Amino acid sequence: MSTTTNREYIGETCVICELAKDKGIHLYTSFICTDCETEMVHTQTNHPNYKFYLKQMRKVTQPTIFS
Ligand SMILES: [Zn+2]
Repeated sequence: MSTTTNREYIGETCVICELAKDKGIHLYTSFICTDCETEMVHTQTNHPNYKFYLKQMRKVTQPTIFS
C-alpha cells in the first residue's frame, strides 16, 4: 500500500515479522510493528500463533535478565 518514493527512511525491522516497518513500538532495544503488536494483543494464548510470537519475543528479552 505504501508509495514507493525514493526515501532513505524505511523504518525499522520488526522482531516479530522481520519486515521493515515505519510504525511500531520499541521494546527494550527491539522494534515491534503496529501490525504485530495488534495481532499479539488479539491472539489467544491457546492459539498456535501465540507460540510463534513468544518465540520471536524471546529475542527481545535476550539481554541477561535471567541470571
Ligand atoms: Zn511486525
